[in-house]
Amino acid sequence: MIGLEVHAQLLTESKMFCRCSAQYADAPPNSVVCPVDLGLPGALPVINRKAVEYTIMTALALNCAIPDFSRFDRKNYFYPDLPKNYQISQYDLPLSHDGHLTIELDGQPRRIGVRRVHLEEDTAKLLHRTDAAGRPYSLVDFNRSGTPLMEIVSEPDIRTPEEARLYLVKLRNILRWIGVSTGNMEEGSFRCDANVSIRPKGAEELGAKVEVKNMNSFRAVYRALEYEIARQTEVLNKGGRIEQETRGWTEERGVTVSQRSKEHAHDYRYFPEPDLPPLVIGREWVKEIEDTLPELPDAKRDRLMAQFGLSLYEANLLTGSKGIAEFFEKTMALNPNARAVANWMVGELFRLLNASGIEIEQSRVTPGHLAELLRLIDQGTISASIGKTVLEEAFGTGQQPGQIVQERGLSQISGVDELGNIVDQILAANPQAIADYKAGKAPALGFLVGQVMKATRGKANPGVVNQILKEKLEN
Ligand code: ADP
Ligand code: MG
Repeated sequence: MIGLEVHAQLLTESKMFCRCSAQYADAPPNSVVCPVDLGLPGALPVINRKAVEYTIMTALALNCAIPDFSRFDRKNYFYPDLPKNYQISQYDLPLSHDGHLTIELDGQPRRIGVRRVHLEEDTAKLLHRTDAAGRPYSLVDFNRSGTPLMEIVSEPDIRTPEEARLYLVKLRNILRWIGVSTGNMEEGSFRCDANVSIRPKGAEELGAKVEVKNMNSFRAVYRALEYEIARQTEVLNKGGRIEQETRGWTEERGVTVSQRSKEHAHDYRYFPEPDLPPLVIGREWVKEIEDTLPELPDAKRDRLMAQFGLSLYEANLLTGSKGIAEFFEKTMALNPNARAVANWMVGELFRLLNASGIEIEQSRVTPGHLAELLRLIDQGTISASIGKTVLEEAFGTGQQPGQIVQERGLSQISGVDELGNIVDQILAANPQAIADYKAGKAPALGFLVGQVMKATRGKANPGVVNQILKEKLEN
């Protein structure tokens, strides 16, 4: 049984409870701070309306219910990255609850419950160093302190590391799609803690859970879960017991290590934040936010399938990010040949993007390029295989396909006279293939077509070549 807790930084302009900029990435340490996020005595927080809006927006995208009434609570604990000695978070009255997210497993939909999406503030950032004499020391940068942080808590509905990965990929896609977070895991804008327990087949009761922290890639989450499932299984098989604890993933060694045992909500002495008013969330506001939501990935995927006859596989890939979906729809607006656009994007374009490791937004090939390329193929100016070369060239240089074809002399040879001459030369050079063909060996024809394609460096129109060859062979 796996339940994931995801923390996502929100793309608001200012921090959660003060006017400091929330975009501090390039700022020198401790330069984007004020009395509120430094926790100075007497400083008072003010709720960032946009952060609440983004959280409700996310909750709606995850099919959650939005209660009429919500509240912030104090979660009390000491740590050097937490100057107030408490974090303003939400406890029993979160901004949303009881939603779900659907993942695709072997082509089958599987619904994962979302327990709640709530809002809190991020902590400062600690940097652990070693000085010249080998003594460890730590630095604290308060720029991150008080940044809006959204927590998305799943039900323990996840069953395998692969399902966990699919859940995270889908969740991140949705957050980026609606524009509330960069979802960047390497930069720490999207962080995941994984809760795992195991239980004997058929058992009703859940096993004690272990919470694993410190994973900073999807792959790390996958590996940590695999490791933890194997570790717990072995402990139980040896007659041992699993105690509730928090463990940290160590990437280099590929193991989880115990950090602290048994942590319960009552240890934090949660109580209502007295410096903030409770929130009454008007239905009109929720409706307004709902109206700003774009068509979401699942809905778009289903529509692409219904409207254009795309397969589930293609439609999933083409809604894998907002940028990809927009690329598809923009290309379709210029050249409404859905089959060709889908094939070329899912095949060649994705191959080029993967090989160069860039996102579609950074690609020099635009919808305009792809639409033009498909037109050239459609009109028979170039063959599909030359099309691949042209796309690759456009991908590297940003040149228009028409220009590439012209400058490099790649136009397809369809002229019967021109091709007839080449066919004659190929036939003269291959008497054995002619004999084979006459003896009823079908592959001989394919061989001859291949020879003509080779002689024209792929520029011959294969359909015309086939026809000419057959005529000449029959005669
Ligand atoms: P806590 O109070 O320790 O934060 P919660 O019950 O709020 O625990 O759950 C936190 C996360 O742990 C959720 O994502 C939930 O799905 C998951 N979880 C809870 N119990 C288990 C369990 N027995 N096994 C696996 N995951 C669990
Ligand atoms: Mg927790």
